[in-house]
Amino acid sequence: MRLDKYLAQVGLGTRSEVKIILKKGRVSVGGECVKDGRFQVDKNATTVMCDGKTVTYQAYYYYLLNKPQGVVSATKDNVFKTVVELLNKEDLRADIFPVGRLDKNTEGLLILTNDGALGHDLTQPKKHVEKEYFAHIDGEVTKDIIAQFAQGLTLKNGEKVKPGELFVEKTYPAQTQSGWMSEIRIIIHEGKFHQVKRMFEAVGMYVLYLKRTRMGNLSLDDQLEVGKYRVLSADEIERLK
Ligand code: URA
Repeated sequence: MRLDKYLAQVGLGTRSEVKIILKKGRVSVGGECVKDGRFQVDKNATTVMCDGKTVTYQAYYYYLLNKPQGVVSATKDNVFKTVVELLNKEDLRADIFPVGRLDKNTEGLLILTNDGALGHDLTQPKKHVEKEYFAHIDGEVTKDIIAQFAQGLTLKNGEKVKPGELFVEKTYPAQTQSGWMSEIRIIIHEGKFHQVKRMFEAVGMYVLYLKRTRMGNLSLDDQLEVGKYRVLSADEIERLK
């Protein structure tokens, strides 16, 4: 593989930034300074160093973010902060993107990666990857509503959604519009736009707070604070595939 491609892939910079780094003599291969980006390296065997530090080849990066409210699930936005901007400078590579979307005011599990194939697989409708959410609902979620979710609902715009499993954790009097609040968990098998909110809208209820807690076999851990992220382990990546 060409040295300039290698250096760009390890996240040292864009191809043109890498060219400047090389020109300045900051890179060595097998102990020898190399300034030519066309130089061929064996990505698994050659020792490449930049400024005296070994740069290890890694093609793909995987992060688990506990998305906070107020940031958008995008790589670029003219108005709002994006989820990729929550990454530290050293992790913020140009090719990292969020796998699927959470609404601006939704919190919780979001995978950030540069692995396009994994991103595609996890969001493909026909793969039916399960997603689990925790939510606060204005009102009392009754057995009848649970049954409607279990049958598969028709949304307000006529669109049909697959059955979802709805579990009520608690219901209590609260200062909401209805005077009641229900804390629920819901598992859905699709990823339609605003799906959870629109499912509750279809039964005349309103979602006050929404947090994704699981995607496929990957759950959000309690230790990961809102707004923080961590690297996924090899085992977690494997379980997503
Ligand atoms: N459903 C929603 O309504 N919003 C989300 O962010 C995710 C699922």
